[in-house]
Amino acid sequence: MPIDPKDIEWVEEPSMNFWESTYLPAVVSGLRTTGQHVVDFNPITEFYPEQKPNLPLHYRGVHRLNRDDKGRVKCVACMMCATACPARCIEIVAQDAPKDDPNWADRDKFPKSFVIDELKCIYCGMCEEACPVDSIELTNIFDLTGMTRQEMLFDKEKLLSVFDQTKDSGRDPIRTHKGKLGHASDFSELPTLGPATEVRPDDRAAKAESAGVIK
Ligand code: SF4
Ligand code: SF4
Repeated sequence: MPIDPKDIEWVEEPSMNFWESTYLPAVVSGLRTTGQHVVDFNPITEFYPEQKPNLPLHYRGVHRLNRDDKGRVKCVACMMCATACPARCIEIVAQDAPKDDPNWADRDKFPKSFVIDELKCIYCGMCEEACPVDSIELTNIFDLTGMTRQEMLFDKEKLLSVFDQTKDSGRDPIRTHKGKLGHASDFSELPTLGPATEVRPDDRAAKAESAGVIK
């Protein structure tokens, strides 16, 4: 449908007077702002990694694949997350559940392989919104490092290990569980370590006994 000309607002480039064209008022304004911060004794500097940041509850970090109450991967290989992913960074290969195994009688499929490229991911959260069984979730782990691109490809085992290491962390993701807090969602403590992070023995942050406190 063509746009009605009366709905178009043409914006002209504003003209500058003599003083504005010298840019001096803008420079003085910038220096005044800098000066205000110099005398403002309310520091906003974050002392990471000595002090872990107090992340908002809706922070979206590294993924995890949840387990069901039988310990199996909860994912039913429906491909909804991979379809919803705008970065196309989820690769899933589905496999039929073994029909002769009573442990899998309630499943048609499960993921034979499930890989997320954590470098391609933009951490938008669309995957966990799309998941019908609350299997994929984004944790609050942000200190993710790797020496190679290969290390940043998280396969099923690694994603399940993130679940194993974060399920009791006290910071259960809040976007799933039909939008309600899970029973593990006590936000009084942050996990002291990102499970996907290799930590050197002499890393002081690794010795933190409680969130944000390094001794
Ligand atoms: S958080 Fe967004 S970009 Fe990352 S895997 Fe999920 S849907 Fe894809
Ligand atoms: S993680 Fe969820 S949305 Fe993705 S394939 Fe598995 S069940 Fe489907």
